[in-house]
Amino acid sequence: MKSFKQIYNEAENKIAGIAAAPGIVISKVYLFTKEKIKINDGEITDIEEAVSNLYEAIEKSKKELNKIFSIAKEKMEETRAAIFEAQAMILDDPILIENIVKRIRSEKRQPEYIVHDEISKYQDLMRMSHESYMNERAQDIEDIKNRIIRNLQKRRWKSKITNDLIVVSDSLTPADTILLSRCNVKGFVTDHGGLTSHAAIISRSLNIPAVVGTHNATSTIKDGDNIIVDGFHGYILINPNDEQLKFFKKKLEHLIELRKGLEEFKDKPALTNDGHEIQLMANVDVTGEVDIVISSGAKGIGLYRTEQIIEELGEFPGEQEQTTIYSKLSSRIYPDNIIIRAFDIGGDKVKFLNFEEPNPFLGMRGIRVLLENKLIFKTQIRAVLKASKDKNVQFMLPMVSTIGEIRKSKEIIDECKKELKSDKIPFDKQMKVGIMVEVPSAAVMAREFAHEVDFLSIGTNDLIQYLMAVDRGNDFVSDLYQEFSPAVVRTISHIVIEAKKEGKPVSLCGEMAGDTLAIPLLIGLGINSLSLSPATIPYAKRIISKFSFAKARELSNDCLNSSTETEIQHKIEHFFKIHDITRTRNII
Ligand code: PEP
Ligand code: MG
Repeated sequence: MKSFKQIYNEAENKIAGIAAAPGIVISKVYLFTKEKIKINDGEITDIEEAVSNLYEAIEKSKKELNKIFSIAKEKMEETRAAIFEAQAMILDDPILIENIVKRIRSEKRQPEYIVHDEISKYQDLMRMSHESYMNERAQDIEDIKNRIIRNLQKRRWKSKITNDLIVVSDSLTPADTILLSRCNVKGFVTDHGGLTSHAAIISRSLNIPAVVGTHNATSTIKDGDNIIVDGFHGYILINPNDEQLKFFKKKLEHLIELRKGLEEFKDKPALTNDGHEIQLMANVDVTGEVDIVISSGAKGIGLYRTEQIIEELGEFPGEQEQTTIYSKLSSRIYPDNIIIRAFDIGGDKVKFLNFEEPNPFLGMRGIRVLLENKLIFKTQIRAVLKASKDKNVQFMLPMVSTIGEIRKSKEIIDECKKELKSDKIPFDKQMKVGIMVEVPSAAVMAREFAHEVDFLSIGTNDLIQYLMAVDRGNDFVSDLYQEFSPAVVRTISHIVIEAKKEGKPVSLCGEMAGDTLAIPLLIGLGINSLSLSPATIPYAKRIISKFSFAKARELSNDCLNSSTETEIQHKIEHFFKIHDITRTRNII
């Protein structure tokens, strides 16, 4: 059978975008085109009537948003649904409303023109920041603006959608996404929007596969076309041929097959068939994912990527805000542990103050930024400590490359502890502090680094990037990004052996932990704690139940003696075959 890569390489009917919500769907298209709103900018004679129309339209818009908010609450977690509440709050902004009313009175123009002009000014300011987050929020405001104008024009939201279709649209506001989902929408495709767009976040919460940011979906796909949306890889195939249909129908059957019998693993520990327990924890990128973590049967959160909060908010959260977020998570996950990672800013992630540098991956990133900006670091540490009072919070430092960085960080942590103590604020005095091992220098010096901290967590995403000198996001060199390279396998083994000499635990939280093909090898290498995406946890438990620790050890020894990636891959594939494990990589 061909691979996804081959299918997509050969396809001439494909559109690429961003894989925003996982899953595969094959269905007919509903092309969702929003009527272009025409703005009447004419003069008015009756000012009082215009002002009263404005207030009426605002009230109507509020009612609509409240209705959407209650539908959203039924369908998803309340924290996610709260964006509609936030939108409704804009309609209560007295300064905005006052400005609009003042202008209607002084300019004597149609309220819809003034509303459009006044709100567009806010949007322009937001778009000027060039941050993707702010652009997304400007888009949310577009929804409110159009809602008020539509209500001023006394028009209704129209959609002729029938059930079970894939919605293809220029962009989707959060409200569109929620309202359309009531028609049992099978998938979403948009021209615009990124991973953090609310439409993408909502699709993930609703479990509807989505590909966003395609640029040309609406100009290429026609209403009624049959399409395949692949929310795992970020592709759409338009009017697929027989071979493509056969391939994806097989994948869908495979997905259904894989899901069967998974339930029985949910509440059980992850045990090899000779009783060796592996701790499977969850990676959390978005605060609202905690429900998914709990229902996945994870044993705690092994990596909470806090920089995502900055991405979601568009700014650094304050101490109080962070304390609330971390406390909520730690109490939800209690008595299991949560490992909160300090902001990993820089590289290809959130930029710090739009700081430009020639080589961001090798520049100001992770712990380097935090040590240079002590105030930001201290704010986060104080919040993490405050959330640690039930003793289930651990703190982890990203991108560490020298012992000096660990020592300086520990000094700052101690400083924060002293402050909280003198203010009589409770916290866990023994809160564990660990580091990510994701830079070759940390791997080579694993023993000495382990001596300084309570635990190590291997971040293979970056470790492979820095070890192989391959940009993790660069397609041109992606063939060299080899997680089964003997260099990677031996480095992981070295880290485990060295940390053991110090009696310190090692876990692994890069994407490699979620590559089901890698699991027996990693266990054989002595990793007994993996942190992976919650969706993969039940699959991982089932795989682990099929082999013994002794056999995994044999496999890893065999791989440690190999000299090419291909050799290692073949050995793993053979291992899967003789243990009757369905060959799966990243689930499908
Ligand atoms: C890693 O590098 O493996 C890791 C888990 O961190 P991130 O992907 O956030 O850089
Ligand atoms: Mg990393």
